[in-house]
Amino acid sequence: MLLRHTPKTIVEREALTIQPAKTCQPIGAMYAALGIHRCLPHSHGSQGCCAYHRSALTRHYKEPVMAATSSFTEGSSVFGGQANLMEAIGNIFSIYNPDVIAVHTTCLSETIGDDVPQIIAKARDEGKIPKGKYVIHASTPSYVGSHVTGFANMVKGMVQEFAAPTNEKSRCVNIIPGFVEPSDMTELKRIASLMGVSATLFPDTSEVLDTPQTGRYEMYPRGGATIGALKSIGASQATLALGPIASGPGAKLLDTKCKVHCDILKLPIGLKATDAYVDKLRTYGGSVPDELELERGQLLDVITDMQQYFHGKKAALVGDPDQLIPLAEFLTDIGMEVRHAITGTQGKKFNSRMKEAVGKDDVNTRDLSDMFYLHQLILNEPVDLIFGNTYAKYMSRDMGIPLIRMGFPIYDRVGHQYFPTLGYKGALRLLEKIVTALLDKSDASAPEEKFELTL
Ligand code: SF4
Repeated sequence: MLLRHTPKTIVEREALTIQPAKTCQPIGAMYAALGIHRCLPHSHGSQGCCAYHRSALTRHYKEPVMAATSSFTEGSSVFGGQANLMEAIGNIFSIYNPDVIAVHTTCLSETIGDDVPQIIAKARDEGKIPKGKYVIHASTPSYVGSHVTGFANMVKGMVQEFAAPTNEKSRCVNIIPGFVEPSDMTELKRIASLMGVSATLFPDTSEVLDTPQTGRYEMYPRGGATIGALKSIGASQATLALGPIASGPGAKLLDTKCKVHCDILKLPIGLKATDAYVDKLRTYGGSVPDELELERGQLLDVITDMQQYFHGKKAALVGDPDQLIPLAEFLTDIGMEVRHAITGTQGKKFNSRMKEAVGKDDVNTRDLSDMFYLHQLILNEPVDLIFGNTYAKYMSRDMGIPLIRMGFPIYDRVGHQYFPTLGYKGALRLLEKIVTALLDKSDASAPEEKFELTL
């Protein structure tokens, strides 16, 4: 009943967002930075921003997320944050000893107009950056973009700093995974390894934000792309950018800077998109082993066996564009009908790509939108399932429609860190969640004579 006042009548809004379907850019930049081994993210702004970004990531991953801040006060807000950042760089290297500091800006430092590259150059000139250590940066004002573009900007920062052009290309393939779970990154590497492809995944948050309990605190867990690996990306034969918004810009920059050919693919969510990922790895020297064929066959088997439960079920999607497009394609492939799909991230092609994914124009889709609008769409045309992050649970409860949690953030469940939704195995997990949600609902509401023990 929390949302009982949401009106069914849709009034177009221009200057008001209600229940945003995104978080702010620095969260994505911070997450990407954590995918570098021994990297400490640094928020160039006020303490409040950094506290929010850390807590959002900590609550989603259930792991302590370390980050430093320039701790702006009234003085730095007026005169600029150069002195704070200079002091922070010196302190961080001497106290916490990371290999990399990844600086991202915030609304405040961007509004002031702080020139972060110039400040980093000054810090280097003044000897505040020890030999063999690095400070990278990304511009992430949050009055534009979202956590997805923040991720993309920090990936560009990695390419800018570490990639070096060379004529001697290796057999290695770069993979930029996009803003996905550590479990998904592990799955991407597993598939590449099964196919015999030597891959450099960057950033890589596996074994950083899904670490085991050992009884010892480690500020820098053993995961993450190493500096050595990042320095080699300019020598790779190609880059696979998984998702045009989060991964495309970094891959294109690498192509321009080091002539590493890039292929921009969908995130491998579902059968078709995973086939495309596997096929692309095949063109770069990989071969499909029996193990992968088995996983694909098992996925097909479950799709076929459960077809009657998927057929004609209507879905509403909210989340990140790179995830929603292949998800919509997969749901359509298994016989479901995607009726509404909205994202908070801006993307000129989102609407056309969504229509292409579901194979028809008759779908309510919008970028730069919010959950209030999605709620109104569902009030006008109800659905059987909602796919979205934790914030969609209010809508789900209000309307009695099951929610499949996907994307970021998920504060109120566990599992996303450990079980992928990418690849054939990930698609199988998605199917299991969908069938369970649909059958749980029908079990809860079935009359006695229709309450069956078996499927
Ligand atoms: S939206 Fe801007 S001010 Fe708010 S937390 Fe994000 S960076 Fe800071």
